[in-house]
Amino acid sequence: MPAVLALFAHPDDIEFRAAGTLLLLRERGWELHCCNVSRGNLGSSTMSSARTATVRRQEAQAAAKTLGANWHPPFCDDLAISYNAANLARVVALVRQVRPTILLTHPPVDYMEDHTETCRLAVSGAFARGMPNFRPRPARAPWNGPVTIYHATPHGLRGPLREPVKPELLVNTASVHEQKLAALACHQSQQEWLDASQGMNSYLAAADEESRTVARLGKRLTHAEGWTRHSHLGFCGETDDPLRDALGRLVATFGGLESPPSRERGLSSPLRR
Ligand SMILES: [Zn+2]
Repeated sequence: MPAVLALFAHPDDIEFRAAGTLLLLRERGWELHCCNVSRGNLGSSTMSSARTATVRRQEAQAAAKTLGANWHPPFCDDLAISYNAANLARVVALVRQVRPTILLTHPPVDYMEDHTETCRLAVSGAFARGMPNFRPRPARAPWNGPVTIYHATPHGLRGPLREPVKPELLVNTASVHEQKLAALACHQSQQEWLDASQGMNSYLAAADEESRTVARLGKRLTHAEGWTRHSHLGFCGETDDPLRDALGRLVATFGGLESPPSRERGLSSPLRR
């Protein structure tokens, strides 16, 4: 069974912009794995840091259960995710354990540093998956299978200097949109917090609107998630696109043009590990 690993910064990031894609992969028999790097301990104005981390851990586990995903525990605090040897050792261990054909993560540059640093950890974690002299924590045997990394759209579809960012691929998530919102609704503590701290009128409405905004980049889409492939060098074959191969016509290239399935592109099976 092929596996997908979603590695994002905070406890609700996966549900916000990757849950639709994960649900579609699960429908096609993929094994789902979710990890938010941070405990989310700063995401409250009414609870202590420790209490917030406990609540958000429970919420993340409930959301993963809703998605049918395996949940992996966080290992950093909010605003303390950094690219360093200790954190990289944790990510390499996770990649070697899960052996993902697809790795979903933040874009290389996003509106806040936890997202950007998580992306750096994810990319290097995949890069070091087969290096025999790299010591992950906990110890895991090296694994050399191909992994294709897909970067999510940045928050607000803009980079940190407000520049518009357009994804390479659009996944039509309309059929699983309600399930996606149900998973996001598990993060109850965040609804009040984000409404207050980021001026969102409604947490779920904000996710709904972002999904519609991404969909408008394509044609005849109502809800979508956007993805852009990382370089293949050091990770997978040059033409590998396992997300497109798995989801077929649910994947549109930016602008809404439907692409042929892998067979017509002359690729071998995308599901090898
Ligand atoms: Zn986040």
